[in-house]
Amino acid sequence: MIKIDGSTGEGGGQVIRSALALSMLTGKPFEIINVRGKRKNAGLARQHLTCVNAAAQICGGEAIGAALKSSHLVFRPGPVVPGNYQFAIGTAGSTTLVAQTVLPALLAADQASVITIEGGTHNMLAPPYEFFDAAYLHIINRLGPTVTGKLIRHGFYPAGGGSIEIHIQPTKHWTGIQLLERKKVNPFVTTVLSGLPASIGDRAVSTICRKADWPVGNSEVVDVPSPRGPGMIVMIRLECGETVEVFSEVGKPGVKTEQLARKVLREARRFLKLDVPVGPHLADQLMLPMAIAADGTDQRSGFRTGPLTGHSLTHIDIIGKFLDVNIAVTEDTNETVLVTIGGDEMSREPLEA
Ligand code: ATP
Repeated sequence: MIKIDGSTGEGGGQVIRSALALSMLTGKPFEIINVRGKRKNAGLARQHLTCVNAAAQICGGEAIGAALKSSHLVFRPGPVVPGNYQFAIGTAGSTTLVAQTVLPALLAADQASVITIEGGTHNMLAPPYEFFDAAYLHIINRLGPTVTGKLIRHGFYPAGGGSIEIHIQPTKHWTGIQLLERKKVNPFVTTVLSGLPASIGDRAVSTICRKADWPVGNSEVVDVPSPRGPGMIVMIRLECGETVEVFSEVGKPGVKTEQLARKVLREARRFLKLDVPVGPHLADQLMLPMAIAADGTDQRSGFRTGPLTGHSLTHIDIIGKFLDVNIAVTEDTNETVLVTIGGDEMSREPLEA
């Protein structure tokens, strides 16, 4: 039984999601104590509980301690059964994070699956649907599987009510990929408005385009049809050749539109300044699929990114508990690192772009 202390490292929901994903994939049971031990509202919240129940349903697993606020969970997975599944979080919790929990095992299954998840699609501190689709699934598809996503309905906090659908064609033939250089960047700015006046969206995109000196033609304001409740998100999508990055901020009461727009632009600029193809969020999220591609194969992947975040470091730790895959982090420059996933540590040749 693999033992995990959920209060070490980042100490949040990602620890339990990654453990569930890896447990389903490898068939290895785990026990976690101090679930989300570093969060103010420690224990399983609705989104995490949905992840536990979804994982248990897909692999006929046993989950002891699967209850709201539970700080202790024992998970014993069974064989993964691909198929059609529907999960409802019941709050505005992040649908994309639930998707990232069950996706890895279904990518390696022996038949196709379709999953539908209801909840939030544009959440604070979680991948908005556009990031999940353009940045994350883009990498998954380059590694071998074929996954397509569809945003059925937008869901913002606190009303929720969003829905996403994911079609998964698994693979037995994984391909390692190298994301070492950033090509010419193509920016695009999107503001999505749910039940809010169009002028707010116009202010957000014009603030960014003016400050960054990007053509206003590289922007759009999307009005959500039949909104469930008020909400907005500002996103900058950067097509960088091998990768697509999406930087975003969700609007909150009391935060001015221009302030929100400037914050997103600052995040995008921080990434652009580093001259790497992978940003901080994509870095922690692509480690798991790259490790699956390398597990038991000679398919090594690598990427260049900025300083590793707490999420990335914790993720490396959790992956190491389940998979026998080398993950090496070497300093590239003062501010950037090269992460190599797979291959033999001793005889590792340098990666080539
Ligand atoms: P908690 O921190 O309350 O436990 P949580 O379950 O949402 O919350 P975290 O452990 O914080 O989980 O993980 C959040 C995940 O969402 C990380 O993988 C992080 O990279 C990703 N993420 C956060 N913000 C963004 C964003 N703006 N764009 C893309 N991904 C994001």
